[in-house]
Amino acid sequence: MKACRNCRHIVKNASKCPLCGSEELTEKYFGFVVVIDPEKSELAKSLDIKTPGEYALLVE
Ligand SMILES: [Zn+2]
Repeated sequence: MKACRNCRHIVKNASKCPLCGSEELTEKYFGFVVVIDPEKSELAKSLDIKTPGEYALLVE
């Protein structure tokens, strides 16, 4: 699995991010968070996540 450098979305079996279209993917990411309801998640707000999905906490 890789993470998008642009939006931190976890990308599986793809060469570009399905969420933002960026091809800036990295295997160097830390942490893992599943956001189900970004509207109600303080973590999602602090990470500026607006779409439900799987995200890395930090990308390098
Ligand atoms: Zn992305």
